[in-house]
Amino acid sequence: KAQRQDPDVRSRVMVGNVAIGDGAFVVIGGPCSVESREQILATAEAVSAAGGVMLRGGAFKPRTSPYAFQGLGWEGVALLAEASRATGLPIVSEVMSIEQVERMAASVDLLQIGARNMQNFDLLKAIGKTERPVLLKRGMAATIDELLAAAEYIMSEGNPNVILCERGIRTFETATRNTLDLSAVPVLRERTHLPVIVDPSHAVGVRRWIAPLCRAAKAVGAHGLLLEVHPNPAEARCDGDQALTFSDFRTIVADLERIPLPA
Ligand code: PEP
Ligand code: MN
Repeated sequence: KAQRQDPDVRSRVMVGNVAIGDGAFVVIGGPCSVESREQILATAEAVSAAGGVMLRGGAFKPRTSPYAFQGLGWEGVALLAEASRATGLPIVSEVMSIEQVERMAASVDLLQIGARNMQNFDLLKAIGKTERPVLLKRGMAATIDELLAAAEYIMSEGNPNVILCERGIRTFETATRNTLDLSAVPVLRERTHLPVIVDPSHAVGVRRWIAPLCRAAKAVGAHGLLLEVHPNPAEARCDGDQALTFSDFRTIVADLERIPLPA
């Protein structure tokens, strides 16, 4: 069950050789989408060198417009796998449909369910039938209860390895892309034993506001961060405004050492 039964239980989810959950704070980095071999290999090296423990990269992209870049598909997944072999980093990528589940589960270390699919219940059930760990992103208009119910859909099919991700919700505020609901972190830590990570990139949508929110996320008890990084943000085919440069990423990861892990 996603809901906490025992106040002392705090689950850890193993993704490859990386433990996510209580007692650790991990940073996952990578581009919004895999764009080329050079791009993903360079990013993987930079993420690893800076202390990131996992590589992200979308191959199937849920874009608002059908005319926007939709991702490289299976070619992108193959490039991610190559970057993983080169660096030893486990990989996370989004799965958008039931037809993709089997092959994605065989190809990546962590299956991402995007915000737009948080309540795609048939997809959640299909993912629940695999043994792959799952990164479940909060829907942009979903309550914390709905996020936990979505996790339950996966877990009730037999897959207990769910990591929750707060990625910002829609509010009346327009200064930021979404509103990062940092309150969700302590609330979730009380309500569930599952690990909780924060994605400030999609929450604020603006590169220069990401660093302070990373510090806040760690201080408030998150188990890790999901960050978008690109070798050349100005040329990114997706989410360039929020993409960190390699040097931004390095600075953020190093500065987080100064924030203690909460009890
Ligand atoms: C992403 O991680 O690139 C993404 C599409 O995120 P979200 O589903 O949170 O919008
Ligand atoms: Mn993105």
